[in-house]
Amino acid sequence: MKKVVKFGGSSLASAEQFKKVGAIIREDEARRYVVPSAPGKRFSSDTKVTDMLYACYASAEQEEDFSEQLDRIHERYQEIINGLGLKFSLDQDFEIIRKNFTEKAGKDYAASRGEYLNGKVMAAYLEFPFIDAAEVVRFNEDGTFNEEVTNELLSARLADMEYAVIPGFYGAKEDGTVVTFSRGGSDVSGSLVALAVGADIYENWTDVSGFLIADPRIVKNPKSIETITYKELRELSYMGASVLHEDAIFPVRKAGIPINIRNTNAPQDKGTLIVEGTCRKPKYTITGIAGTDGFAAITVEKAMMNSEVGFCRKVLQVFEDNGVSIEHMPSGIDTMTIFVHQNAFEEKEQKILAGIHKEVSPDHIELETDLALIAVVGRGMKSTRGTAGRIFSALAHAHINVKMIDQGSSELNIIIGVRHEDFKNAIRALYEIFVLTQI
Ligand code: ASP
Repeated sequence: MKKVVKFGGSSLASAEQFKKVGAIIREDEARRYVVPSAPGKRFSSDTKVTDMLYACYASAEQEEDFSEQLDRIHERYQEIINGLGLKFSLDQDFEIIRKNFTEKAGKDYAASRGEYLNGKVMAAYLEFPFIDAAEVVRFNEDGTFNEEVTNELLSARLADMEYAVIPGFYGAKEDGTVVTFSRGGSDVSGSLVALAVGADIYENWTDVSGFLIADPRIVKNPKSIETITYKELRELSYMGASVLHEDAIFPVRKAGIPINIRNTNAPQDKGTLIVEGTCRKPKYTITGIAGTDGFAAITVEKAMMNSEVGFCRKVLQVFEDNGVSIEHMPSGIDTMTIFVHQNAFEEKEQKILAGIHKEVSPDHIELETDLALIAVVGRGMKSTRGTAGRIFSALAHAHINVKMIDQGSSELNIIIGVRHEDFKNAIRALYEIFVLTQI
């Protein structure tokens, strides 16, 4: 049995956290490949090491004195090393980093040092071999990620290694230039390692016991999700639910490797299991509720639009030409509505409106802003009658006007558009009907 274990920044923020991680790894022999993040926040007003590195490098780039900033980063690691009682020093590494910062080695190089150094500390602590991710995670010349070469390099390198620590978040181009994934990218690294070693499971250790059914900032003490499919997760993360980096799903999904989100501070909790498919019946009809604010709707109206061949294409072309991505598109007989992110639309608004007039001569265009979309997601909806009915009666009881409804053809989700003011109440009403009353 092989497990790849990735630990997030808050799981590695201090020596005390490192000890919890050590205990988790030692408790299960299958936990053989470890992917650490950089040390995160120790308390809520603390700064993540990655952010300290970005700030320090910004000073270096402006040719300001960055010694003190770098020393403070060094202290963060030294505190961990001392707390773990290790006879191990990063002095030499910090000298190299100092030199490379002075020579302006790049922002990505700077940020990547958080994981690199933490990987070294972790390897010393566990007595596992260390592999520099720059050698095994490959980016193309243009900075895009090269999945194929990475998989070859990683599989070959790990083939006869029983144990290893591979820092997350970064890799390098063929010439050695370090490139990072986007923020939170150690999740992706963990997934790549899991694919390369053919892991039985990819454990992603963080500071929550898995996904929650709804956002805890909106719903008080929401229950957690035990099992979720990749598809459901995709729907929820599209709507803003975040625990895992979005790109982390793809490598393991291809190989059918489940991801288990676990809590370093509560290792007894089972967390959330993310799987390709499952026969396990969800506890509730729905798996989760997520939503995002900040949408605008553009409704284009024209009599007999339904019989005008190419109408939709022409309207959509205007959005494409202006580089504005379309999020949803409910339509009527003589109307079509296009949901877009308000920020992106506002910049191009007049151009798009003029473009639509020119292309299709509509009778009327109506704009509505400050809308929110809420997705009610669940594989259980397919086999349950009355889900839509319950959604709308819950919203009606909460005096919420529904502006848009969109049921995905997979019957996996129902998306509802509401006004910004109703957003939170709508989520609470939905949680109550599906989870608290659980009829
Ligand atoms: N340390 C990086 C960040 O703060 C990457 C990660 O933690 O996954 O975004």
